[in-house]
Amino acid sequence: MAKIKNMPIIAANWKMYKTLAETEKFIEDFIPKVTDSQAHIYIAVPYTSIHTAALKATGSKIIIGAQNMNDASEGAFTGEVSAVMLTDAGARFVLLGHSERRRYFNESNQVINLKVKQALNNGLQPLLCIGETQEEREASETEDVLATQLSECLEGLDEKSLQTLIIAYEPVWAIGTGQTATPEIAQETHLFCREYLTQHWGQELASHIPLLYGGSVKPETAPLLLSQKDINGLLVGGASLQAESFAEIINSVNSQPVDA
Ligand code: PEP
Repeated sequence: MAKIKNMPIIAANWKMYKTLAETEKFIEDFIPKVTDSQAHIYIAVPYTSIHTAALKATGSKIIIGAQNMNDASEGAFTGEVSAVMLTDAGARFVLLGHSERRRYFNESNQVINLKVKQALNNGLQPLLCIGETQEEREASETEDVLATQLSECLEGLDEKSLQTLIIAYEPVWAIGTGQTATPEIAQETHLFCREYLTQHWGQELASHIPLLYGGSVKPETAPLLLSQKDINGLLVGGASLQAESFAEIINSVNSQPVDA
């Protein structure tokens, strides 16, 4: 297996933006801009755009996914969407535990854990988001918060499941605020996550779990973040909404030194 550092994952989170027409236009404009990219490209679109985006992205290197799902396989849960529905519509991955889901929809680590398992059981790659708030960082609780999130969200998973997992470290204070974490803070926190995973699942497995950084990433901040040893990619919100800026972030991967 190639070292993950050599092929970073650059993921987009479109949140509650883009109609079908806007989705089609984005993909059309975007594909020619990233033909030479050396990154895995993931885009988490709104539910309503999944099918259209997946069709439009056919034959390209873009992987389309969702931003949430229900933890049940089916049932009387009005307004909810299941993992099977997502794969049926063309999604191949799903964001789980995004801080906006935790904050506005009261998602607990326990519910996120059920969702991770449900996604894996249905062939959807989970992209698990973790991160501390400003208050938690100021109270020196960052490592405790991340350890608890990792432990509770990944509870009961076996080694095989962990091989398909992606984790995004997204400090809540950096999301949508324009306040990107410094490369030093991001690297230090990623290293903590890597060491946590190593302690619990061993070095071989931990070294292959992609750890993405997310929080106000811009074309200007992407290269330095990507150059950090334990950062294997980026999760991008606001700057992924325009084809130009998202492509610029993706193409900054091409100027990264290749690991020996
Ligand atoms: C996000 O929503 O996951 C995110 C990182 O957003 P932004 O890049 O806008 O901070």
